[in-house]
Amino acid sequence: MNNPANQAASAALPGHPFVAYRHDALHVEDVALSALAQAHGTPLFVYSKAAMLSALAAYQRGFAGRHAQICYAMKANSSLGVLQVFAQAGCGFDIVSGGELERVLAAGGDAQKIIFSGVGKTQAEMRQALTAGIGCFNVESEAELDVLSGVASAMKLRAPVSIRVNPNVDPKTHPYISTGLKDNKFGVAHEDALRIYRHAASLQGLQVIGIDCHIGSQITDATPYLDAMDRILDLVAAIEAAGIPLAHIDFGGGLGINYNHDTPPAADALWRQLLAKLDARGYGDKKLMIEPGRSLVGNAGVCLTEVLYLKPGEQKNFCIIDAAMNDLPRPSLYQAFHAIVPVALQGNQAMAATYDVVGPVCESGDWIGRDRVLRVAAGEHLAVLSAGAYCMSMASNYNTRGRAAELLVDGSQVHLIRRRETAQDQMRQEQLVAG
Ligand SMILES: *Cc1c(COP(=O)(O)O)cnc(C)c1O
Repeated sequence: MNNPANQAASAALPGHPFVAYRHDALHVEDVALSALAQAHGTPLFVYSKAAMLSALAAYQRGFAGRHAQICYAMKANSSLGVLQVFAQAGCGFDIVSGGELERVLAAGGDAQKIIFSGVGKTQAEMRQALTAGIGCFNVESEAELDVLSGVASAMKLRAPVSIRVNPNVDPKTHPYISTGLKDNKFGVAHEDALRIYRHAASLQGLQVIGIDCHIGSQITDATPYLDAMDRILDLVAAIEAAGIPLAHIDFGGGLGINYNHDTPPAADALWRQLLAKLDARGYGDKKLMIEPGRSLVGNAGVCLTEVLYLKPGEQKNFCIIDAAMNDLPRPSLYQAFHAIVPVALQGNQAMAATYDVVGPVCESGDWIGRDRVLRVAAGEHLAVLSAGAYCMSMASNYNTRGRAAELLVDGSQVHLIRRRETAQDQMRQEQLVAG
């Protein structure tokens, strides 16, 4: 449970090095959040550029001296101003749709550093990506290999491919791994991989260049990564012994962040361990790729919201805020936890009480936090933490709610990177039936 009343003055919030109370006022970098809420309205996403770059720097330190490419998994937060930060820092991008490809190019990203993941690429998306000249397709099934080869051949091109292999890391020891197991839709089975690689190598329209895996998300322990690396390196040995050289190994993303007393390894510490294993097994010279999403942006963002009403009840007290499941979908989708803290600690005469923090959307599933101890009054602002990843990129217009505005803070500078969506914006693609 967060207990903001105990926060020391000028203390960064746990896991959020660039979000701190200064003299009881919550800041992102050098900017007071109450001023931003006043100036721009709520709900409002505020991102710290320094937090993103410092999360990226941890990976860059981990890969110092190595041949490595970091591809930001942009589905975590695909706003142009966020992509621009990573493009300017030299990142590549992991995309999962033609729309994401257009966003990377619009943000100034380098097409050659794009990898295209996902189980359901359409032929139109394949053509679009081949035309742009992306770096690699991460292919997820045998059927997709055949289709991609056909599309590339028709364009007189060879598509660079890597095959996503499912390392099937033991679910009993790591039940939280949700995508690296046999019974899910992602990747090809470990035992089929060699045969499928042989098939890929035989196709005219393909050039096999790598292998990849992505074992899950919000992983807070190094062990599943180490296990997956062992399984992938076994396959690399077998595939190369079959005469198919692999220029790169892509270990996916999935490193977790601190939402609620979570203690994921730091990216550089994790990679120290993984690179030691890679070296020990004789693959230290291979080009490495990774696809981190959440760990680059999750704790760089907060969502500011205003308390609309307090509604005491016999069973529950409700704190009704102006942000909802359409802005912050993770609690309703995954029962996920976001810490919720006041924007101003002082001058608050309210009694502490336990609330379910809920939004205005007409669904019982529209909750943001349960059983939270807060000292709040209507009209005050709260900050929902860890809101940089899988919030705005998953936001919807349910209840014809406009999507929130987004700000990028850089030191004491504030940049509007997305204006608040209006009802007019939402209706623009629609028309009444004539007559
Ligand atoms: C979602 C995804 C990622 C990023 O996952 P995070 O948990 O946000 O790091 C990387 N690779 C693939 C293929 C993905 O689907």
